[in-house]
Amino acid sequence: KVLSIRDIPGVNPAIADKLEAAGYSSAWTVVVARVDELAEKTGIPPTVLQKVIENARRALGITFKTAREVKLERLNIKKITTGSKSLDDLLGGGIETKTITEFYGEYGSGKTQICHQLSVNVQLPPERGGLSGKAVYVDTEGTFRWERIEAMARGLGLEPDQVMDNIFYMRAYNSDHQVSIIDDLFTFVPKNDVRLVVVDSVTSHFRAEFPGREHLAERQQKLNAHLHQLMRLAEAFNIAVVVTNQVMARPDVFYGDPTTAVGGHVLAHTPGVRIQLRRSKGNKRIARVVDAPHLPEGEAVFIITEEGIRD
Ligand code: ADP
Ligand code: MG
Repeated sequence: KVLSIRDIPGVNPAIADKLEAAGYSSAWTVVVARVDELAEKTGIPPTVLQKVIENARRALGITFKTAREVKLERLNIKKITTGSKSLDDLLGGGIETKTITEFYGEYGSGKTQICHQLSVNVQLPPERGGLSGKAVYVDTEGTFRWERIEAMARGLGLEPDQVMDNIFYMRAYNSDHQVSIIDDLFTFVPKNDVRLVVVDSVTSHFRAEFPGREHLAERQQKLNAHLHQLMRLAEAFNIAVVVTNQVMARPDVFYGDPTTAVGGHVLAHTPGVRIQLRRSKGNKRIARVVDAPHLPEGEAVFIITEEGIRD
């Protein structure tokens, strides 16, 4: 199912060696890369790369689609249950494939718990709200807990060890590492039945490495490129991509930072679904969909229990 670099017509072994050495092993990784970035990393002349990319596109069948084909692809979108009926209803049935869903909110609002829950739920069969698939969990803050996965699996009557075997975990140590992990997923995802990719949190390294207003433009540019990379991943393989973004309770502290000025989310220029999470009394949390013309306005209340996300 995965078309390798060597399967692209017209790619000789010398070119394939250079591409592979630079980390481009499947046809998809080449198709979604930019010529200048490929040339820089491989030393292959841009004119040659242009030809490779064209051939890869053709081999992968990337071409015009009719409107009806677009419709059929839309119908192909699948949903993963969050574990809460009320949150699922707010989302029009659950977390969608072929798109990025951003959960943003302050510390303790439940972002990481939802990521854990979705990594378990994606493994459920379709009749129980899953995709019978596996999950990739990219952790930038070190807040992943296998104990939570175990408890959530038990809560659903699933075999905990089996559920944990189906979650591929990686800690990302800086923003470059984070970007390169996602690059590699263009090969890893189709080979391993992955239907959900989590990045918790998508913003923390970028915020730490590009602090303050003087780095804002650069940070936003790098973050946008990363989000587009994730968007292409979601579309290419019909998988769900879920990212989190921690925002402060008092946006006025960050006066002048447009990421909070527009309501705290960073996905303003990327298509996707944005959900704001807030703490309520006790284990109650409130979710609100932000700027989603296709979803009704409103809020959902859910709870976080030992067994996971529930109504
Ligand atoms: P965020 O990622 O938004 O900072 P989390 O997803 O880590 O927040 O949510 C932390 C909250 O989840 C805790 O404050 C607690 O209310 C709840 N929580 C975490 N573990 C458990 C558990 N084992 N049982 C019940 N609730 C839990
Ligand atoms: Mg968290």
